[in-house]
Amino acid sequence: MTELQSFGLRLAEPDAAGAGVASRRGGAGPSDHKAVTVDGHTIMVPVHTASAWHSPFVAGAPDAQGRSMLTRGHVPIAQVAFPRAPRFYARSTADGVPYSHIATLHGADVLATTVLQTCIRYESRAKTCRFCAIGQSLAAGRTIARKTPAQLAEVARAAVELDGVRHMVMTTGTPPTPDRGAQILVESAAAVRAAVDLPIQAQCEPPDTDRWFARLKEAGVDALGMHLEIVTPALRAQLMPGKAAVPVARYLAAFEAAVGVFGRGQVSTYLLAGLGDTREDMLAMCETLVALGVYPFVVPFVPISGTPLEDHPAPTPEFMRGLLEPLGAMLAAARLRSADIKAGCGKCGACSSLNVFEE
Ligand code: SF4
Repeated sequence: MTELQSFGLRLAEPDAAGAGVASRRGGAGPSDHKAVTVDGHTIMVPVHTASAWHSPFVAGAPDAQGRSMLTRGHVPIAQVAFPRAPRFYARSTADGVPYSHIATLHGADVLATTVLQTCIRYESRAKTCRFCAIGQSLAAGRTIARKTPAQLAEVARAAVELDGVRHMVMTTGTPPTPDRGAQILVESAAAVRAAVDLPIQAQCEPPDTDRWFARLKEAGVDALGMHLEIVTPALRAQLMPGKAAVPVARYLAAFEAAVGVFGRGQVSTYLLAGLGDTREDMLAMCETLVALGVYPFVVPFVPISGTPLEDHPAPTPEFMRGLLEPLGAMLAAARLRSADIKAGCGKCGACSSLNVFEE
């Protein structure tokens, strides 16, 4: 799985691109990926990136059940399946917005939404995170800029009833307010929880005050993600100049406060491997995070088409294994398990093979 996520997947037949859940181009989260089930695990695999075009892994034409033979260098190695498109995608709101423009299925059973599809970081060419594609799906008309609490509640209820989704990820672009998105996450979570019993992970930058963590929890948020992405300050300033204005020290203070509210293991952070942080820098940060009770969700960087880093190489499988093996042992020793996370990316695990190394 580590190799498949590093190299990506070529779809040999045009049919394979249309099999299962539509692949995602642009947007926040696992962009340019497709959900693929391998050995019972559903993972997000790059399919539209430049490196995927040269991947040694090829998925043949799927059969009527969406099953396809995975080959490596023409040698069949496994049968894979493309999870079917969820039923809720066929619906639209009363005012004509397709549900799939409000939230999408991630992995096997996660409903994911970007509540605010605009971001103060993205709007400035000088400040944008170089790896981010949050504006691409909006520009292409595949989503709407602001999902209202009522729309999110309507789609969440349908996704639970029709497709059995088990948890929800609510991320947001960063608005120009000091709360950095916490307020709209509070309103959105409260509306969803009033409509349906669905565990929620909220994701935002550390807000101006730690008081937001209790407000998020009261609104029904079960787990919180605040994403460092990169650990070395100089590299943060280079690749995410806007977001780096919030220093690592503020993240660490916010993590400590958030763990006090949500509990050990219910606060997590994305770390992107392959952007220039060394293995040692990343593992040192992971030790600090684990000591705080924060789950470091290390994922391989995926160069998304149309971003300034589209030609930056993805990390090699060897680099990923060199990180995930010791991190898996660190998590096991600290008894921080992805399975114990109530909701969110760490629990889903589709964007990284980290949970395999935890075992
Ligand atoms: S790990 Fe997070 S971003 Fe990736 S598919 Fe799962 S919910 Fe989506």
